[in-house]
Amino acid sequence: MDKKYVYMDYSATTFTKPEVLEEMLPYFTDKFANPSSKFYSISEEPRVAIDKARGRVAKAINAEKDEIYFTAGGSESDNWAIKGIAFANKNKGNHIITTAIEHHAVLHTCKFLEKNGFEVTYLPVDEYGLVNIEDLKNAIKDTTILVSVMFANNEVGSIQPIKEIGAICRERKILFHTDAVQAVGHVPIDVKDMNIDLLSMAGHKFYGPKGVGALYIRKGIRIENLIHGGGQERGKRATTENVPGIVGIGKAIELAVSELDEEAIRLRSLREKLISGVMERIPHTKLNGPTGDKRLPGNANFSFIGLEGESLLLSLDFEGICASTGSACASGSLDPSHVLLAMGLPHELAHGSLRLSLGSGSTEEDVDYMLDVLPKIVERLRNMSPLWEDFIKKGDK
Ligand SMILES: *Cc1c(COP(=O)(O)O)cnc(C)c1O
Repeated sequence: MDKKYVYMDYSATTFTKPEVLEEMLPYFTDKFANPSSKFYSISEEPRVAIDKARGRVAKAINAEKDEIYFTAGGSESDNWAIKGIAFANKNKGNHIITTAIEHHAVLHTCKFLEKNGFEVTYLPVDEYGLVNIEDLKNAIKDTTILVSVMFANNEVGSIQPIKEIGAICRERKILFHTDAVQAVGHVPIDVKDMNIDLLSMAGHKFYGPKGVGALYIRKGIRIENLIHGGGQERGKRATTENVPGIVGIGKAIELAVSELDEEAIRLRSLREKLISGVMERIPHTKLNGPTGDKRLPGNANFSFIGLEGESLLLSLDFEGICASTGSACASGSLDPSHVLLAMGLPHELAHGSLRLSLGSGSTEEDVDYMLDVLPKIVERLRNMSPLWEDFIKKGDK
């Protein structure tokens, strides 16, 4: 990666690794044939490539090849999973359980379903952004058809008790979907062991290309088709396959899983250095999210009392640092983070958060640079902030 800047926003997206791009390239040019054109032999290679990619994605999460369906990204997989299950099972019930801290791809899909005759329970989370199993058990009704709980949160990095949730859902015969967009390629996933029925992923969150994702649908599950048309993806999602993208997500997931343990150790150590450095150097700072293994290896999230997230990001950008407040999709809006509000943070703190997410290109030097620059910026902005002035005055009393 060309390093004229420090990129600390890997949760928003990653670059495509060169070895991934290299496998993709021939499928734009020489190997361009439509995989559905079965009457000439040059369509064979793209067909075989899709099959290979499907196998690689399946293996990475311990699924079967014919349980993997390619999509155009994480949001599409989430939409398909939730609407597809809701509409295919409405004779059984109309109740869905999710959480208050889901990505908008899940939350807004649930809002849509609420307008269409479904009832949705939004589970609360604790101060660390973790779901309580007892709350889930208490929320289940006779009419519950689907539970959708994200594997890991994109803002605060909290990793949910997915295996316990899966066990409860399987026992109660309720389908279980997880938005694993932040987790795939970063933490170990086994859909069989964890009793997951549907799982969403996106290639660009683990060094694959943008615009390609996958949905795992356990064999035998009834789900509405997503795109009506030709017979692609076994008739469930028509449209000529994004062959280069599919090849890319296959290579990227294989690579990510092969490096997973080693990279997690490296990132956790960088993250701890970053977190302890920020907490030591900047007074009146809150670490948002859990600690240790319950947190995604590359995630850090802070609130600085008396500060606005937006002004912080502008100052960081001026120093060549890419970071985010809330999620990429929510930035640009001035709403405080729904995740931090659900964790019980007061409005001022939910507004002034900073997410720093580390990844493959992150180095010790990046962290050192951040630890040098950030305290100065926070001090300067606080000195100009009426919120900070109020806070200091209150402290004097
Ligand atoms: C990025 C993200 C999505 C959306 O993925 P796209 O590929 O951008 O549609 C969904 N859920 C989570 C948790 C994410 O981090």
